[in-house]
Amino acid sequence: MLIAVISDIHGNLQALQEVLRKIEELKAETIYCLGDTVGYGPFPNECVDLVRKHCNVVLKGNHDSGLVGDTPLDDFNHYGVSAIQWSRTVVTKENCDYLHTLPFTAEPNGLTLAHSSPMRPDAWSYILTMRAAQENFSAFNTTLCFIGHTHVPIIISEEGSINKYKAGARHLINVGSVGQPRDGNPDAAFGLFDSSTGDYSLIRVQYEVQKTARAIRDAGLPEFLAQRLFQGT
Ligand code: ZN
Repeated sequence: MLIAVISDIHGNLQALQEVLRKIEELKAETIYCLGDTVGYGPFPNECVDLVRKHCNVVLKGNHDSGLVGDTPLDDFNHYGVSAIQWSRTVVTKENCDYLHTLPFTAEPNGLTLAHSSPMRPDAWSYILTMRAAQENFSAFNTTLCFIGHTHVPIIISEEGSINKYKAGARHLINVGSVGQPRDGNPDAAFGLFDSSTGDYSLIRVQYEVQKTARAIRDAGLPEFLAQRLFQGT
C-alpha cells in the first residue's frame, strides 16, 4: 500500500492542493497528516476542511493546539502569535472543536506518527541533534517513526546515518513541510512510503507561491510570512 505522509500545511491552501493532486497522481491510497494544519498561513479553514476530507489519520500540532488555547502563546515566536491571533478570528467553531479533539500520536499500519517527537509529543520539543534523535528511538516500537515540526526533511537511522534510507532498518523520518518549507527549497514537501516494499521517498511539488503570499498580505499577516515562502526558509 502506498502511504503519503504530509505535515505542517500551515494554512497554505495552494501548496496543499498541489500536494493532494500529486498524491492522487501517484495513486497513494492512504494519507496521514502529522499536524500544524493551521498557523502562519491565510487559509486555515480551507486546509482543515481538505485534511478532514482526505486524510485517514490527522494529528495535532503545536499551532493547532495554540489556536484552540491548549498551548500558551508564550511558546510561539511573534510571527506565530500574530498568525494564531488572526486565525482565531476566522476559524469556525466546528473546525476549532475538531482541532481540539486530535491526538498527539498514532500508530496506524505498524508506523509511529508524531508531530514533534515520539518521546514527549505534547512538549513540542525539536529533534535537532543526533543525541535527541537517538533518545527518541527508545520511545517507539515500530520500524519507522514519521515526524514533522522542524519543516526540514531528514532521515535518521538508528545507527546514526543521515539521509541514507535502507528499507527494513529503523528510521526517524521527518517528512518536511507542505506549506512552509525551511530547507532552502520553496517547493512543498511530503513523504511517500510503500508498505509492501518498505521503500521511502521524499516528494517535492511546485505551487503558486505568489498566490499564497498575496493572500498573506491581504489578510494583514506579517510580511515576513509571505517573504519566507519564496526562499523556503
Ligand atoms: Zn509547523
